[in-house]
Amino acid sequence: MLKAHQAQVASIIPFSWVDGPGNRFVLFLQGCNFNCVACHNPQTIPLHTPRATVMGVPEVLDRIRESMPYISGVTVSGGEATIQHEFVLELFKQIKHDAQLEKLTTFIDSNGNAPQQVWDHLAPFTDGVMLDLKALDNDRHIALTGSSNAVVLDSIKYLDSIGKLYEVRLLLVPGQNDSDEALINTAVWLKGVNPAMKIKINAFKTHGVRAEARQWPEVSDEDLVRYHSRLD
Ligand code: SF4
Repeated sequence: MLKAHQAQVASIIPFSWVDGPGNRFVLFLQGCNFNCVACHNPQTIPLHTPRATVMGVPEVLDRIRESMPYISGVTVSGGEATIQHEFVLELFKQIKHDAQLEKLTTFIDSNGNAPQQVWDHLAPFTDGVMLDLKALDNDRHIALTGSSNAVVLDSIKYLDSIGKLYEVRLLLVPGQNDSDEALINTAVWLKGVNPAMKIKINAFKTHGVRAEARQWPEVSDEDLVRYHSRLD
């Protein structure tokens, strides 16, 4: 049983260049409300597992202080960070109220499957959200994640409307969600929400995925050229 302001933590990366703008401390929380076939870290899906470490906000702040000379911000990822949103809020609040840490930016890397109340809760202390869209087509989304994308699409629109959506990330998997039609429809929908929408392509790799997805082809250089041309 977790006490107040504690979280199930899957892992920590003290410095990362790929989890938001600049060099960032990244906290990966345990537990996810999707079950993606192409998940690169399926061990982070169950909320309760002996592999996770229970950490309180003060312990995480101590770890952040050790990285301070080298980082411009903190990203909370997962799993799905918003499942433990009370902890994330407290962590970000304490960062923003700490004389040594207040200049750090606070970002969340999310699958978007959180209701508006959760975003409203987090927004005052969150500088930006990087949000994954696994598929615009709902049937495809269900096939890839086990869940509908209705809440995800609402999250994209809502976060954009309050100025908190940093970028939308597309994990593109050959033969699963990368047809020309899917790419063009996705670009049209995202740019309909905001013509200046920042879209990031994440290329599928088989490293770390479960057996079913290990059979799928990885993204080639030719695929990447096509993705950029259809999404631009
Ligand atoms: S949303 Fe992310 S962490 Fe959750 S199952 Fe999908 S890929 Fe894995």
